[in-house]
Amino acid sequence: MDKTKEDFLLQTLMRNLKSNKSSSDKGYIIRSFSLPKTEEAIVLLEAVKKLARQDGWSFSTVVYQALKEYVIRHWPGNPQTQLVKYLRQSQGVPATKCQVPGCNGQAKYLKGLRNYEGEERIFRVCERHKHVKFGEYRFITFLKPIKR
Ligand SMILES: [Zn+2]
Repeated sequence: MDKTKEDFLLQTLMRNLKSNKSSSDKGYIIRSFSLPKTEEAIVLLEAVKKLARQDGWSFSTVVYQALKEYVIRHWPGNPQTQLVKYLRQSQGVPATKCQVPGCNGQAKYLKGLRNYEGEERIFRVCERHKHVKFGEYRFITFLKPIKR
């Protein structure tokens, strides 16, 4: 599939997922999957079966819902998701450290970023990460050196 068409279909999918509409295409797509034969996977599958039975869901419905949740949570790509996830947990990061996940660098700048809703957050970043955007927070409002 060419990239433009794929992008178009993914954007349509995301709009539909967010508004909870379903595509009306007929027929089925059949996929198989495998899991490692570990106790964890066995317990997980048993739990899925039990919950699905309680909810009156088929296994396919569970998989479909899980895939939708995955795409909504991770769209438009992993690097940004990790940043957002990190952001939510970053309260515990020492005030002298860069807030980019996995970076242990010294914070050199305070960076103001605004999201699509116009909410602004301030981040601490090191020299190397001064151009980084944090997930949906992608519109820079200021960048100023931290004075020590
Ligand atoms: Zn950094």
